Amino acid sequence: MSGRSLPLPVLIGSLSSESENETWKIFGLFDQIVVRPRDHGQAGMPVLPRLPVINVQRITLQRAEVFLALFLCIGFLLPLPANTQTNTMSQNQKPPVPAEWLTHAEKTDYRETPSYAETIEYSKRLDQASPLIKFQTFGKSGQGRDLPLLIATEGETFTPEAARRAGKAVILIQACIHAGEPDGKDAGLALLRDIAITKTQPGLLKNLLVLFIPIYNTDGHERVSPYNRINQNGPAEMGWRTTSTYQNLNRDYMKADTPETRAWLSLWNRWKPDLFIDCHVTDGADYQYNITYQHEHHEGVAPGVLAWEERVIDQRVAPETEAAGNIVSWYLEFIDNRDLTKGIRDFNGTPRFSTGYTPIRNRPGILIETHMLKPYRPRVIGTYDFLRFTLAEVSRDPESLLTAVREADQKTLAAGRTYDPARRFPIDFELTDEPTPYKLKALEYHTGTSDISGAPYVMFGTKPVDMTVPMYKTFRVKTAVTRPLYYIVPVQWPDVIEVLRAHGLTLQTTQEPIAIDIESYRFVDVKWAGGPFEGRLMPSFKAELVHERRTFPAGSVIVPLAQESAKVVMNLLEPEAPDSLVHWGFFNATFEQKEYAENYILEKLAREMLASNPGLRAEYEKKLSSDASFASNPRARLEFFYRRSPYWDQQMNLYPVGRIITRLAL
Ligand SMILES: [Zn+2]
Repeated sequence: MSGRSLPLPVLIGSLSSESENETWKIFGLFDQIVVRPRDHGQAGMPVLPRLPVINVQRITLQRAEVFLALFLCIGFLLPLPANTQTNTMSQNQKPPVPAEWLTHAEKTDYRETPSYAETIEYSKRLDQASPLIKFQTFGKSGQGRDLPLLIATEGETFTPEAARRAGKAVILIQACIHAGEPDGKDAGLALLRDIAITKTQPGLLKNLLVLFIPIYNTDGHERVSPYNRINQNGPAEMGWRTTSTYQNLNRDYMKADTPETRAWLSLWNRWKPDLFIDCHVTDGADYQYNITYQHEHHEGVAPGVLAWEERVIDQRVAPETEAAGNIVSWYLEFIDNRDLTKGIRDFNGTPRFSTGYTPIRNRPGILIETHMLKPYRPRVIGTYDFLRFTLAEVSRDPESLLTAVREADQKTLAAGRTYDPARRFPIDFELTDEPTPYKLKALEYHTGTSDISGAPYVMFGTKPVDMTVPMYKTFRVKTAVTRPLYYIVPVQWPDVIEVLRAHGLTLQTTQEPIAIDIESYRFVDVKWAGGPFEGRLMPSFKAELVHERRTFPAGSVIVPLAQESAKVVMNLLEPEAPDSLVHWGFFNATFEQKEYAENYILEKLAREMLASNPGLRAEYEKKLSSDASFASNPRARLEFFYRRSPYWDQQMNLYPVGRIITRLAL
């Protein structure tokens, strides 16, 4: 939300209700919403003159109200002062950008971001004006909008085959997956313009090809409002977080419920990019940084890919972005926003997230999160700088990236060719309590007790405060499983098979019924979430390994692990993986009891079982005396016998998918 769009009477009204000794708090609170983000004096940040209202300790509330009203009126009526302080490349270009090539954000001094139609129009103009750029679309949104794609490359290598033949690294940059966070769109359009038109960023396409999605969530992008991002300081209006069916695309990478995700996966499978960057804006605490970033860094990431991210992104791109006038940090999620000294708890993006998905495709996934409270200008410029330095690094040394991803693919492929019960494949991770000291560029903050919520709350000020806090960013493996040679999915689960196809996996459909020894799972301790998540009801459970012989009908699908995307296979089909299709509710019907016994039938059955089985009688009596809730539940007492009788449904809570650990003659 931009400061100027806050309704003035509401703010003044709420201020008037506070007592005089609350003025600091009022200003602290108010400062956070409107004043402070436009008053930052940081390197590379807009520097505006300090207003007298900042020194609030010595003035009365009445005077403060007058100052504030004046400040707000001026703020509403006048354009923001032009920024002359930034030393970032996109604003200090010589020669300056010709007027017809200014982006909408630049033309409006970063107060506005362009609509979908304007973005397409600008993209097509880039295509028409430069042999380096092609505009394409890669699918359709739920509401039928074309999903835009810009391809930037030298030497007419506009197809995956041509780019591969030329030995180019393929970099996919994505913006507006959360359409209320448009920074990447405006940064990317300016960067492609500076590469192809003004040529103030020469050499960035050497050895690489850029795929740029300026607006991924197109439908959400057109749900425009100044009020879509309550925490965010501009642009004046922005799109909405989800698609038109209320799906968060950044939770849809595995289940692939939306047409957008299906289109994205198809694009990915066609190009198999070597590097992925997703552009966002944070929520969370206030601090000095205008841009933060993150990549996954646990054992699920191929070691060579992680080493490349650390060497190139952490050790070169981030410092270069900082040297260009930004303040850069690793992504910051505080344990407690009201007490930053408790430290930072790192984030593990499971494969439902874009940057959690590309690591299981053996590709680096870089998350950019600009800081929501910074004005739009330093957020866009920070993104622009991070992107241009990334391109420069890959352009200078494409081979280290290409080697890292190629080797990771080969290792994944090789590991799937043999079955080794001693070799464990990690599918879930948890943070350890091992702290690393982190030098945090914070802002002064105070806490008070809210008479509205009744709880302590935090007010951030403007004064930079450097502090060292613990950062928890070491993950350990929480769950690991053995890797079978194949999975087999019965034909009667077409939704599951469709998702496997959408991920571009190698599958083999059986022509005949196949009777085979398999491993599978029985689910116990099944519990249900209190409500839907992303439109799905997600079960939690424990999975116990079972060994069975099952017959799979013709048309069932065998999924070999000897493929480059085997980590995707494991993460979809191992039930305990956090984004497995079981967790996403694809098999929910198997958790339902479908036959029910009448009490008077069970009464007779129970008596017969007790009479004929002394062991069962002892077990029943022990449970009666040791489990009070069981003893007081007549239905549970009868069901005790139903579950131990041959009438109980043995397929309930049984995973329909099989793990095959012997070699098949395919
Ligand atoms: Zn986001």
